[in-house]
Amino acid sequence: MPSVDTFRPEQGKLVARTAIPARYKWDLTAVCRDWDEWNASYQQLDQLIDRFTAFQGTLARGADTLLAAFRAMDDMGALSYRVWYFASLQYDEDQRNNEINARRQQVQILFARQHQASSWFNPELLAVPLETVRGWMDGNADLGVYRFAIESLFHEQEHVLDEAGERLLSYAGRFNSVPNDSYAALTTADIKFPTVTLSSGEQTTLTYGQYRALLETNRHQPDRAAAYRAFHQAYRDNQNTYASLYNGVLQRDWFHARARGYETTLDAALHGNNIPTSVVENLIRVTREGVGPLRRYHQLRRRVLGLDSYKLFDVSIPLVHHDERYSYDEVGEWITASVAPLGRDYQAHVGEAFRGGWIDVFENAGKRSGAYSAPVYGAHPYMLLNYNETLDAVFTLAHEMGHSIHTLLSHRAQPFVYAGYTIFVAEVPSTLSEALFLDFMLERATTAPQRAVLLQHAIDSITSTFYTQVMFADFELQAHRLVEQDQPVTADVLNGIYAQLLRDYYGDVIDEEEISRVTWARIPHFFSTPYYVYQYATCFASTARLMQDLRSSDLGTRANGVARYLSLLQAGGSDYPMTLLSRAGVDLSQPDTVRAVASELDMLVGRLESELGR
Ligand SMILES: [Zn+2]
Repeated sequence: MPSVDTFRPEQGKLVARTAIPARYKWDLTAVCRDWDEWNASYQQLDQLIDRFTAFQGTLARGADTLLAAFRAMDDMGALSYRVWYFASLQYDEDQRNNEINARRQQVQILFARQHQASSWFNPELLAVPLETVRGWMDGNADLGVYRFAIESLFHEQEHVLDEAGERLLSYAGRFNSVPNDSYAALTTADIKFPTVTLSSGEQTTLTYGQYRALLETNRHQPDRAAAYRAFHQAYRDNQNTYASLYNGVLQRDWFHARARGYETTLDAALHGNNIPTSVVENLIRVTREGVGPLRRYHQLRRRVLGLDSYKLFDVSIPLVHHDERYSYDEVGEWITASVAPLGRDYQAHVGEAFRGGWIDVFENAGKRSGAYSAPVYGAHPYMLLNYNETLDAVFTLAHEMGHSIHTLLSHRAQPFVYAGYTIFVAEVPSTLSEALFLDFMLERATTAPQRAVLLQHAIDSITSTFYTQVMFADFELQAHRLVEQDQPVTADVLNGIYAQLLRDYYGDVIDEEEISRVTWARIPHFFSTPYYVYQYATCFASTARLMQDLRSSDLGTRANGVARYLSLLQAGGSDYPMTLLSRAGVDLSQPDTVRAVASELDMLVGRLESELGR
């Protein structure tokens, strides 16, 4: 029975925040009771920052002073979460609020001061011989808590130069960002979006959003083709400029790798997280061997869509028409039910998240777009959504819930210094939460079209979060190797690599379109964060591997899998990501781990074929 304060958003209508019942809004009193308490916390943080400078020059004295400094740093860190998020979460409720924005900026200024006031810490600690610090840790259990933090700091130090060298490198800092800044200017500030005339006679300007929407919704192939060609032509028109900017990225990466004594750019990129380069190489090699199910999916799409020629502009159009709406109240129950395989405690946490004011559900005037999970240390995770009742929104909720329970368990189990986790493991719980939800929904779906819609959602997320990202990583690796081997980097060369990648991954199941080879120019990650996207793929592979155990018909395997998975969540950032994952039974250097994705895709495509009767 719907209660009086039930709320469902009306399509195309933006409401004021006050029109939404309180139970769909987050309750920030767990962060700070009110602005008075926030003010007091802010003052307290300000004082902690001042007092921290007193530790300067004391670290070499021994275990006690080092421990005291670490603890003072933790106190600052823990308090800063609450001071930041109380202002920042309220700002996201309505970003037109200048008063709150001013407070948020006030915190940012305080953080800059905190950063300066503690910048002496790492160099001073690194000046003490590691053997000495190890001796202190062996003799002092409280300091021993910081062992991984200290060891990993010294590990990073292996490629730090002497003072003169570091000074020289710091001068380079000012132009390191030039290739990416220029790329951003060229693709945002200075871009001229192309206009196409559709078969209806209507003219459309292809902004990024319009372009995507057109490819996902326009069922007339000539329109999609026209949009695709016009959109990519805008990049081809400047392809030599893009190639030159990308060469700047590659040369910069190679300069830094060599200056710091790494053998390759990949070694330099992976050293911080202590990830062997074989992980990326294995990922690419095994994915290339496992493109069978990907091709099978596109063959199915070609048949179902009834297209004589099937090209890259046809891959985003849904196979099944679908406009079901999912009410938030209903979905909350489903998501809670879907995590039953992870045990009662986990399920209770999810129930608490739905009831306890952790989630800001609906869009309102002025609210930040998108979705996130905020790890508010000292309170609990908070989730911002713009829930619009679509299937995408439902899976986004399951995704953010995965992040949030990870945060909750990690914050509870770990000391502050390890409460956070790296991106290398972060997308495991979020994608695993989506996978469990998919299983649950498939189980309760009663008609073939319902199941087909769910299967297609799952398959598309594998093709876009896994295969496409591996192909991107493949491209980055090949491009970086060009400069490492003193080979020229031109638009022709980069186009050639990309064209060959499309052939290697899709074979002849997607018909070639000449202009697709320039796609590399429109991928901002290549320019902003080299060697980053492979982590989406490794997280996805880890999840696929973990799900094999969670879906096992053998009770022992399942119980074991759950226990290892929960300990991964509780481990936070207490060790290198590869170590944490291997304790959870995931070895990313092994081909089998990566193969788990291809076999999952194969299973899903098989099911989709039978649901569609093809
Ligand atoms: Zn995520």
